[in-house]
Amino acid sequence: MNVSVTDRFKVAHAAELYGLEGWGDGYFAIRPDGHLAVTPHHGSDLGVDLYEIVCKLKGQGIPTPVLLRFPQVVISQVERLTAAFQRAIDEYEYANRYAPVFPIKVNQQRAVVEALLRGGQPFGMGLEVGSRPELLVAAALPLADEALIVCNGFKDEEYLASAALATRLGRRVIVVIEKPFEIDAVLEMARSEDRMPLIGFRLRLQARGSGLWEKSGGVASKFGLTTRQLLACLERLRGAGLEDSVALLHFHIGSQITEIRKIKNAVQEAARVYAKMREIGVDIRYLDVGGGLGIDYDGSRTSSDASVNYSVQEYANDVVFGIKEVCEQEDVEPPMIFSESGRMLVAHHSVLVTDVRGSIAGVDPTPIPLDGDESQVVQDLAEVAKMINVKNYREFYHDAIDYRDQMYQLFNLGMLRLDERAKAESLFWSVADKAVRYSKTAKFVAEEFLELESRLHDKYICNFSVFQSLPDHWALDQLFPVMPIHRLDESPTRRASLVDITCDSDGEIDKFVDRNEIKDSLEVHKLIPGQPYYLAFMLLGAYQDTMGDLHNLFGRVHEAEVVLGNQGPEVRRVARGEPASEALRWFGYDADELVEGIRQSLEGGVAASRIAAEEAPTLLEDYRARLAQYTYLD
Ligand SMILES: *Cc1c(COP(=O)(O)O)cnc(C)c1O
Repeated sequence: MNVSVTDRFKVAHAAELYGLEGWGDGYFAIRPDGHLAVTPHHGSDLGVDLYEIVCKLKGQGIPTPVLLRFPQVVISQVERLTAAFQRAIDEYEYANRYAPVFPIKVNQQRAVVEALLRGGQPFGMGLEVGSRPELLVAAALPLADEALIVCNGFKDEEYLASAALATRLGRRVIVVIEKPFEIDAVLEMARSEDRMPLIGFRLRLQARGSGLWEKSGGVASKFGLTTRQLLACLERLRGAGLEDSVALLHFHIGSQITEIRKIKNAVQEAARVYAKMREIGVDIRYLDVGGGLGIDYDGSRTSSDASVNYSVQEYANDVVFGIKEVCEQEDVEPPMIFSESGRMLVAHHSVLVTDVRGSIAGVDPTPIPLDGDESQVVQDLAEVAKMINVKNYREFYHDAIDYRDQMYQLFNLGMLRLDERAKAESLFWSVADKAVRYSKTAKFVAEEFLELESRLHDKYICNFSVFQSLPDHWALDQLFPVMPIHRLDESPTRRASLVDITCDSDGEIDKFVDRNEIKDSLEVHKLIPGQPYYLAFMLLGAYQDTMGDLHNLFGRVHEAEVVLGNQGPEVRRVARGEPASEALRWFGYDADELVEGIRQSLEGGVAASRIAAEEAPTLLEDYRARLAQYTYLD
């Protein structure tokens, strides 16, 4: 490929503009032809051209919206995490080991979990489960011999019976007691089971997290035992001769912890509890530091909600060092360390690609030419539009507001024609557009022009549902990086917020990541009629897969797995999205019954001569076919 210097410049500019280097973590790159590539072999040049994959899938009847998964990214993240812990263990000469435990609620997709276990096998990766259904899956998956299954969540008899079964199957199951009354069920279980799972305790730490999920920790949290409850539980286990089952201490102060200081505090507090438990004779061996390792969604490396002020290595260092220090002070054996990082392992692996279906223009700033017979107020606006410049823009913009208001008064009095009103409006927006551009030359842009700018944006209509595919954006205002997957060698000349195709005004994205601030519009390219324009929502691999809902009956999207082999990218495991009939079934509608209802109505129509008899079967077939279609725009 022949790439000119200017093209290279443009591509570098696009990477900067969309913040790729910040949030991409080495997994994304822009190709010289302006296409976005996923580079699953962390940081290496080889990449998967997303645009090419999307076109190929479309040719196979799998149109956008489509969720692309990159299992190799998951594996690479497992390696990064474990390597970071290994480096920390080596550096601080920590006298025990580390193993990751994947909290399956973060992404229960079979393909994702299988990739994790494949990547995690050499490191003894275990699973954390928070419900009986999750435990039933974990029990059946091929885990390494020494891997843990950590059981959190509400534990009824059935849950514990499932844990006992998994234990009998040879799994290393840990039942974590996180509420005082759970001890009763565990003691009950010990009466009937001859092989007990190991027992862990979830601590209610004084230390709290930070960011959007801060509530998960702290004294008022929904989870965890106070010190008093912990001691009471230990007492009862001793009484039942079960103290040897106690193996693990666990805490989780929330997801996406934005500040490393919060993690350090929690680790130190938990390590101290561990040491004190050993000192009173409890042979506890494992310390599980929970999840919370965050992702830099906005690339700013700060403690803003969408970012983290630390690296994976710093996290590992602080966990290992923090535990080591306390154990040395207390002169106890250091525990084997586990972490339940979920978000960090899977967030990067999936990308949702959607097509832009059109734009609702903010306003069109091209003035309509005048004929010369327009009222004075229209002519005055034309004069302002002509004379506005970088020195007078503020004053001229204010003049334009006066003329516009006068114009509306005259119009309401019946003194202007429709075309005059249209011309005056177009002139006003042309002034506004110029004023916004001139305002950017100032050191401080006045609030009025910032606000004006947001009214000039387009809204790009994207073929997807925020509620199905980005639930945390809707529920928590979480930001995800968004960018075009092609035309990145072209300057984006428009700015737009993004709206989905639901009929809900919340189905809009008007906050975008930026290294310095949050943007209220995204730089996008002008739509070219007849040509598709694709945008990608990035870093959707954690939590978004399972929490989406069926607002307006937009169902699950098409999915495909992409693997980069020696021969280039390979698409596998294509899973069709939900057809309308399936989305309807969740709400109690049966496709056959619906078809039957339509058939009867058609019969009625034929009897009443509203519908031709020979037309009825075709209409019925059409209806049936539509029920089988993808729920998104065709
Ligand atoms: C949700 C959860 C996690 C995962 O946290 P991340 O921030 O995704 O790493 C870990 N442990 C427990 C107990 C959880 O509930």
